[in-house]
Amino acid sequence: MTHRIKVKGKIAVGGKALGVIYEKQKKDISPSAETGHGEEERLRFYGAVSHVKAILEQVYRESEERVGREESEIFLIHGLILEDEDFLSAAEKALEKGHTAEYAVIAARDYAVDALRATEDPLLLSRCDDLFDLASRLISELTEEDGTVYPEEDFLYYATDLTPGEVMALDESRCVGILLRKGSLRSHAAILAGALSLPLLVEVGEFSAQEETPVLLDGETGEVILFPSDEEFEAFRLWQKEKEEEKKRQRVFRDVRFHYPSGRGLLISANAGSLEECERAREVGAEGVGLFRSEFLFMEREDAPSEEEQLSLYRRVLALAFPHRAVIRTFDLGADKVPGWYPMAKEINPALGLRGVRLALCDPALFDPQLRALLRASLDGSLVILLPMVTSPDEVRAVRERLEALTKVLASEGHAVGQYSLGVMIETPAAALMAEELCEVSEYLSIGTNDLLQYTLAIDREHPALSHLADPRHPAMRRLIERTVNAAHEKGVAVGICGEIAGDTALTKELLTFGADTLSVSVSKVPAVKEAVAKHLASDGK
Ligand code: PEP
Ligand code: MG
Repeated sequence: MTHRIKVKGKIAVGGKALGVIYEKQKKDISPSAETGHGEEERLRFYGAVSHVKAILEQVYRESEERVGREESEIFLIHGLILEDEDFLSAAEKALEKGHTAEYAVIAARDYAVDALRATEDPLLLSRCDDLFDLASRLISELTEEDGTVYPEEDFLYYATDLTPGEVMALDESRCVGILLRKGSLRSHAAILAGALSLPLLVEVGEFSAQEETPVLLDGETGEVILFPSDEEFEAFRLWQKEKEEEKKRQRVFRDVRFHYPSGRGLLISANAGSLEECERAREVGAEGVGLFRSEFLFMEREDAPSEEEQLSLYRRVLALAFPHRAVIRTFDLGADKVPGWYPMAKEINPALGLRGVRLALCDPALFDPQLRALLRASLDGSLVILLPMVTSPDEVRAVRERLEALTKVLASEGHAVGQYSLGVMIETPAAALMAEELCEVSEYLSIGTNDLLQYTLAIDREHPALSHLADPRHPAMRRLIERTVNAAHEKGVAVGICGEIAGDTALTKELLTFGADTLSVSVSKVPAVKEAVAKHLASDGK
């Protein structure tokens, strides 16, 4: 049977890939409750724990080198689970009853999974995957077989779900893309796959393919095509060639600088959430970091980052952006970004709740170390401290007062503070309508069209059924962007656009009509945006 079949999924990581299907066979890790040999099983269990810990440290080091620290921290967390008292005592109970080491692993895993499930907290629930990942590592260690033999040709990995450990293992193989029956768009695994440029579709559901079946993953349409037609094969080869040529062509624009006919300059800078992205931004010719999402430093860890940890990160971000500026946004926590460790009260409508600068102003114990770190880092480059989710100039004034007070404290402690600017994100209709007043209390405006769109059109930015209505060309959006840019320029304040639309080359021509001073786009989009801008604006400095 060789007929063409098409299934559809959701795009977690874009791109295209062609390969045979490798379907993951879940190893049966449900050992029977048979009795083992007492002390011998205890030794086996702890031996496996300590060996897996060592492996995890090694995987962490390799992963850190490959995709960066934040994306790799999950492996450190797995190591911590192996030291967790409750996890170990659940295993110990099984061992005391005389069960095997394998059984003790499953008992500990199930105990921890039940505890997470009982919380009903979606963030903690997502940790269950980590426990399954960890348990299968321990079982593999005990049974001394990994059981995974990947194909020796290009393949698409097809599984129900994916753990971060599995993504890193795939990186060593000839995996060219990933298809998940379930999966989630923003899982750790998806972040890692993105960092490794592995196209990933989630929610593709069930289909069956023989081992040799050629399959095309189209991460531009979200389609999976079994037995692609000759034309589709051809189209894929052409796409690959075009991608190569596109890369070559776009390299020409790496060092160009743009200006509008009025003489006003336009910077193409990068949005980043990690140092690795800042490094790549520099390599592809981004003119500084136009949005550094600092909240990622606060996620996927056990507690808040210290002032010193933040200081060293911000210093490096500033150095990588230099001689351009680094616009570091204070943590935009709340709504869909609540770290597991943060005691956030349940909100009925979190997107309209305690988020961004609102949360920061309510929690000085969390906010002050970040502000102190930013103030201390300000000596190392050209810094804009950007505030998220602002709706009133009072919020900006409150932060400025806090910055001034902290500057005095720092001086009394012998810490110098350099120059910095304060910027405001325009993400709410209120902020856009108050742009003039916000310019009086700040030195930079950055239009965050992702949230501006959600709050203006009243469409949840993650809502799957309404995405077709979330049109960034909506006249209401146009008006808000236009008035923000005009207000800023009348007040002599620089203004940028940093939402996803800034990186959409189909919109570049239209966006340039606003006359913003910066377009800040995701790192992978910098070359294409520079190429698109070059079609419309004069440039120099090749
Ligand atoms: C935005 O809202 O447009 C933005 C850039 O911020 P984030 O996507 O991080 O909310
Ligand atoms: Mg936003």
